[in-house]
Amino acid sequence: MTMEKHVRGLSLFSGGLDSMLAICVLREQGLQVEAITFSSPFFNIGPAKKGAATLGVKLNIVDFTDDIADLVENPPHGFGGAMNPCIDCHARMIRRAGEEVRARGWDFVATGEVLGQRPMSQNRQSLGIVAKDCGVADILVRPLSAKLLDPTAPELDGRIDRDRLCDIEGRSRHRQQELAAHFGVTEYPSPAGGCLLTEKLFCNKLRDIKARGLLHDREELELLRVGRHFALPGGARLIVGRNKADNEHLQRMITNGRLLARPIGTPGPSCLISAGASPDDIATAKALCAAYCDASASGCVRIRLFDSADHFASEETTTPMNRQDAHAWIL
Ligand code: SF4
Repeated sequence: MTMEKHVRGLSLFSGGLDSMLAICVLREQGLQVEAITFSSPFFNIGPAKKGAATLGVKLNIVDFTDDIADLVENPPHGFGGAMNPCIDCHARMIRRAGEEVRARGWDFVATGEVLGQRPMSQNRQSLGIVAKDCGVADILVRPLSAKLLDPTAPELDGRIDRDRLCDIEGRSRHRQQELAAHFGVTEYPSPAGGCLLTEKLFCNKLRDIKARGLLHDREELELLRVGRHFALPGGARLIVGRNKADNEHLQRMITNGRLLARPIGTPGPSCLISAGASPDDIATAKALCAAYCDASASGCVRIRLFDSADHFASEETTTPMNRQDAHAWIL
């Protein structure tokens, strides 16, 4: 049986296999570990909740929305394949965890990073940059690759037994699968995915928000996951609901000068128009709203324009535009 030591730390936790194994490796030598995960409109923390429940580890959830908005606005080390500022994001998460560790008077921050696993963000140089930028390099432990990296303070002074950490390197998952079997971890999500900042189509919408200076507007960030987005010729943005959940979400967003177009007497989408839209863009939005409705016998649709949840400013019969003509405006 493992004796529990009074050495305590927070381990960054996505719920993926590597983050689970990092905690297992630390707990096996009696260290006290809690998990920490970061929430924002771009990440799904469902796997972290599930993984923490599987391991029986306490999960700390930290709102990271302002941090990641800052980094998307200005990533000191640039983006990965899309708008994912992975190096800076890792460093900021470790910094936030480190601040919490110091505030609690605890001993270390751990991560599930594996040397050489990801060509851009987990090579030796990137891990070094992250360690330097996070501000807590002295207490940062990477249990899965620790023996291949310089020892940090809790390893040097014996609070953490370095001999019982690992020397995993590279993209093969073989060693992780062996460790998973050793610790009886049988359920974990696949390694890829989970962050919308890595998805190029999503980033078309994000780039538009960034150009409009709205990266720190939480409502706008939430709206990125709702509906089809169009950049209209006059500069307004239109979001067309794709289903009932989208339509309900859009109907709750008729605030801060936004308008909502909705069909009357025929099924169709709710369509949110950004604040300050020109009369031409509003007319275009109504015609596009009509284009996504089930066609009436005449081909025309009554469209109401709401300026608040319970007040409509106008109602008129609208001729649908050809959807093909709007193709170039899709974000
Ligand atoms: S994939 Fe997303 S959450 Fe992960 S480090 Fe990169 S930007 Fe951050």
